[in-house]
Amino acid sequence: MPTVTKVRKEWSDDRSRRHIKGVCTAGDFYHSRKEVVDGIDSGQRWVTAAGGSEAVIRKMPYCPVGVCLATPYITTRADSSRDDNLENLPEC
Ligand SMILES: [Zn+2]
Repeated sequence: MPTVTKVRKEWSDDRSRRHIKGVCTAGDFYHSRKEVVDGIDSGQRWVTAAGGSEAVIRKMPYCPVGVCLATPYITTRADSSRDDNLENLPEC
């Protein structure tokens, strides 16, 4: 079960904001969004861990912001606590 502790961000295509480029697991091992989605598709359970809680990472077809067409994209559930929300993790 890969546990994500940090995220790496990049500017969206329209430069409106920074979105998730990939994630880092313990030891700052980097994994692209595609690698995470491929893992989920092959049955792996990817989670975030922060502040003593965890959230399951799920895939989305596209980045949810504006006209950004980054694909595939990843997110945690909307009811996640603030700390373990994927977008709020520290950067790696
Ligand atoms: Zn985006």
